[in-house]
Amino acid sequence: MIYDHILVRYGELTLKGANRKTFVNQLRSNVKRALMPLKGYEVKANRDRMYIQLEPEADIEEMMRRISKVYGVHSISPVVKIKKAMDEVYQYAVGFAKEYRDGDSFKIEVKRSDKQFEHDTYAIQRAVGGAILKAVDDVHVDVRQPDHEIRIEVRLDAIYMYDRTIKAIGGLPVGTGGKTLLMLSGGIDSPVAGMEVMRRGVTIEAIHFHSPPFTSDKAKEKVVELTRIMATRVGAIKLHIVPFTEVQKQIHKVVHERYTMTSTRRMMLRIADKVVHQIGADAIVNGENLGQVASQTLKSMYAINAVTSTPILRPLLSLDKSEIVEKAKDLGTFETSIQPYEDCCTIFTPKNPVTEPQFEKVLKYESGFDFEEMINEAVANIETFVIDKNYDSHQNEKAAWEDDLF
Ligand code: ATP
Ligand code: MG
Repeated sequence: MIYDHILVRYGELTLKGANRKTFVNQLRSNVKRALMPLKGYEVKANRDRMYIQLEPEADIEEMMRRISKVYGVHSISPVVKIKKAMDEVYQYAVGFAKEYRDGDSFKIEVKRSDKQFEHDTYAIQRAVGGAILKAVDDVHVDVRQPDHEIRIEVRLDAIYMYDRTIKAIGGLPVGTGGKTLLMLSGGIDSPVAGMEVMRRGVTIEAIHFHSPPFTSDKAKEKVVELTRIMATRVGAIKLHIVPFTEVQKQIHKVVHERYTMTSTRRMMLRIADKVVHQIGADAIVNGENLGQVASQTLKSMYAINAVTSTPILRPLLSLDKSEIVEKAKDLGTFETSIQPYEDCCTIFTPKNPVTEPQFEKVLKYESGFDFEEMINEAVANIETFVIDKNYDSHQNEKAAWEDDLF
């Protein structure tokens, strides 16, 4: 079957009455970005669905693969758009059925939003079913559990026909839900956490704490690469790299060894909070997961969280590690995340960190030094990179990335 359009459904977007126009516009530009390197199409979006009109040279399977990964797209179908005449409908319906295997069953579903159309739903169903049975051997009708559903939509402008609906990623279009700051380590979890909030329409900037010479340039490149992979899905992302060495050294001078992890997290969060205000974001996102490691018990979260009243989103809170790994693989970040470069926390991690830090003790240790100035210094020396999918951390003239993940 030669299709001439891809039908794109918005799903839950339809719920968002007043904002619908903004959502549709954002989704249209996100879909266009996903299709950018491809040729032979035109995107037409209206209130309740989008059509991608295809030229004959268009690579429809590749287009569908890309569109199905755009947040806010609920499902897609390759469709044929035909004149509002029954003989056209018969011809295409038979065309669909000729591709079915011997013994397959089918069902005709008709949606008739043009109430003026000369035939009613039931008449169309019967006539098209009859035409197929006459023209194609070895297929039969099954209205309960058909192998194929041929859908015929009689709309005002034309008739649209299709027999495949592909589930897409869902969620809401990135760019419609405000901005957050993602705490991005080199690990498996934080990139996944970032994508989970983006799935709900939120944009991110990323912040990474770097402690040279205890952490290598390789560790930094890893974070750049993780950001680049996320950018292949959602467009350019800003990455803020914080020089964290001095703060970390100072923590180790004044805080009891078992509490250094707690204080390190608290200082990170104090810095992140200042950046949140600078960039006009409204929340911090991290990859924390309840009970996974010492810093992620409830007592720990309480002690760490106490430095800020900015909301902290923890989209992975309740997932099992295997579920997070699965998502990281889907996203394409897993292989990079498991590269063995140390991040600043691994290196300073005490042998025996306290799992249930007492809040009063944390405050007592930290009162041995006024961290505020050092924190401001770190913020003042942040390096910011804008990372898109073609970003090359070695700054080569032009990078040819072949692993475009869309
Ligand atoms: P991840 O796989 O994301 O590193 P994790 O399970 O290893 O998570 P931790 O290392 O305890 O857990 O970190 C918890 C969260 O703290 C991370 O998900 C991340 O959001 C944040 N974080 C940790 N280290 C850094 C860092 N160097 N820079 C920025 N954020 C960090
Ligand atoms: Mg980690």
